[in-house]
Amino acid sequence: MTDNPGPPPVGISSCLLGEQVRYDGGHRYDLLINTQLADLFEFQPCCPEVAIGLGVPREPIQLVHTGQGIRIRGVNNPNIDVTRKLEDYGNRIAREFADICGYIFKARSPSCGIEGVTTWTEQGKQAKPDGTGAFAAVLIKVHPDLPVTDEIRLQDPGLREQFIADVFACYNSQHS
Ligand code: SF4
Repeated sequence: MTDNPGPPPVGISSCLLGEQVRYDGGHRYDLLINTQLADLFEFQPCCPEVAIGLGVPREPIQLVHTGQGIRIRGVNNPNIDVTRKLEDYGNRIAREFADICGYIFKARSPSCGIEGVTTWTEQGKQAKPDGTGAFAAVLIKVHPDLPVTDEIRLQDPGLREQFIADVFACYNSQHS
């Protein structure tokens, strides 16, 4: 009898599954992910901001350019700095989710966004939208070959098919 290893494990920002983990107590349920992709993958949800103890609801955070590089600080209280905690948690999940074959991140999040996240100056002015979420950045750095995407990229049929193909290629290489 052949062992059935099940669908490929894929990490995902838990708010995209409808979990009410956002700073305002809401979620970002994504219909496409929860219908078209849910049958293909075994989702491993994760909310880094909740995991590091920020709670729900919580102070919103943002990416701020500082003399020490980009820091993740409270929007209303810049004395809150969770950069180190998010990076440490990213390293932990990179180890704990060692067998995942892909990751679907929440776009534009200061923790989960993989590109184009809004950044701010220390004076509170909006800067270039060229940031990467602190948690996502660590995972991508530790696993540079991991297929990653977000809910906006997945709206594009070509990018969606490519992500699915990349996940299964990773999975097949693990089980060949
Ligand atoms: S974007 Fe990431 S940190 Fe923000 S609520 Fe969703 S899972 Fe949590």
